Amino acid sequence: MEFFNAEIVEIKELIHNAKSFLFRLEDGKHFPYQAGQFVMLKANLHGEEVKRAYSIVSPPPKDFKHAEYIELIIKHVPGGKLTDYLFCLNEGSLIEVAGPFGQFILKEPIQEGDIFMATGSGIAPFMSMLRKVFRDHNPKEFYLFFGVRKMKEIIYADELYQWDKEHENFHLIICLSNPEKSWNGEIGYVQDLLEQYVDGFENKQAYLCGLPIMVEQSKQKLIELGVKKENIYHEEY
Ligand SMILES: Cc1cc2nc3c(=O)[nH]c(=O)nc-3n(C[C@H](O)[C@H](O)[C@H](O)COP(=O)(O)OP(=O)(O)OC[C@H]3O[C@@H](n4cnc5c(N)ncnc54)[C@H](O)[C@@H]3O)c2cc1C
Repeated sequence: MEFFNAEIVEIKELIHNAKSFLFRLEDGKHFPYQAGQFVMLKANLHGEEVKRAYSIVSPPPKDFKHAEYIELIIKHVPGGKLTDYLFCLNEGSLIEVAGPFGQFILKEPIQEGDIFMATGSGIAPFMSMLRKVFRDHNPKEFYLFFGVRKMKEIIYADELYQWDKEHENFHLIICLSNPEKSWNGEIGYVQDLLEQYVDGFENKQAYLCGLPIMVEQSKQKLIELGVKKENIYHEEY
């Protein structure tokens, strides 16, 4: 695995425990990737080499010039080796990056009724995929089911709600498992809402990313509803 130095050029707080990090590869390195792929970050912490995977959030670069930037979202896991370290870094800090990796890739062009299902930071690869889909002006109808516990945990809420407002073919279903009193949207788990929003599952494709239990249960449910096993793609965090 070949690692390159990257500089953190921008850090933004997205929600109380997750930040977006924009990296620029040093030494004129370029990094073409496909929507849905991930990178490995590496740091040497107290003599131990710690490597972790992070999905790329930015859409695939339009051209070679933009392929030196990548955006990631990182959720702080208190006591977690790499995230404790990353959350102490500042703009201008350096870290090592390798990639891109992974087969959890958007199949293009997207098909009528494609279903995307995420929990928590599992939204990351879908941000890359959907940013590309909207950039390409795709006219097909598709669904994003996004589950978190509380309103304050909805990562990229502004961008998601803006897409929902602007695109009639995009159906955003946010589902909270332990909502604040003021929430008036869906409550429960994403896998229990499928039939309520989607008609006819036989020829659909589904992309699942997030907690292993959500991925497993959603997969079972989709198969019961008629989605072919080979049309279900998933990544577990
Ligand atoms: C393909 C892939 C893509 C990923 N993409 C992302 C991403 O885009 N953003 C992101 O934030 N993470 C992502 N992850 C998770 C990431 O790789 C790390 O596991 C996570 O950041 C924790 O690393 P750490 O070194 O801080 O914690 P560790 O030191 O590895 O873990 C500390 C403890 O926390 C537990 N733990 C690990 N992860 C979590 C979690 N998410 N929530 C609660 N407890 C946890 C572990 O089981 C362990 O007991 C991805 C994982 C995979 C496999």
